[in-house]
Amino acid sequence: MAENCIFCKIAAGQIPSLKIYEDKEILAFLDIGPISEGHTLVIPKQHYTKVHECPPQVLASIMSVLPKVAAAVFAASAADGYNILCNNGRAAGQLVEHLHFHIIPRKTGDGVFSRWPASKYPQGKAEEIAEKIRAKL
Ligand code: 5GP
Ligand code: ZN
Repeated sequence: MAENCIFCKIAAGQIPSLKIYEDKEILAFLDIGPISEGHTLVIPKQHYTKVHECPPQVLASIMSVLPKVAAAVFAASAADGYNILCNNGRAAGQLVEHLHFHIIPRKTGDGVFSRWPASKYPQGKAEEIAEKIRAKL
């Protein structure tokens, strides 16, 4: 349990939450500041901060639960779609430093995440970046 981690406290039952799903390793609960009705968070009970710091077996457990919870959120919120979002690092919008996956129900035309600042690589740049990333694997 990480000190002063709100999600560790929620996982330990020290802070109340509206639980949606729970097993030995995983907890899903309603987000307290929903982007839309039914906005749910899925967390490992153990404290990890980012995806790449979390053991693959724990991520596998999260992923094995995600479809079931997403299906329930989707059905219960009468949504047209949903986003699964995982912010890693402050620069990416991560405010709570305990790994979590958002399930955000979406309605057609709701305007959430309407900015998607896609760009284009200049000639040769994509190959260069791909090689740089492969070298780090
Ligand atoms: P992040 O920006 O770190 O990806 O998202 C953190 C999320 O946790 C936010 O959507 C925020 O509303 C939610 N959150 C923060 N504190 C609490 C809390 O005490 N209880 C619950 N249920 N959600 C929380
Ligand atoms: Zn934690």
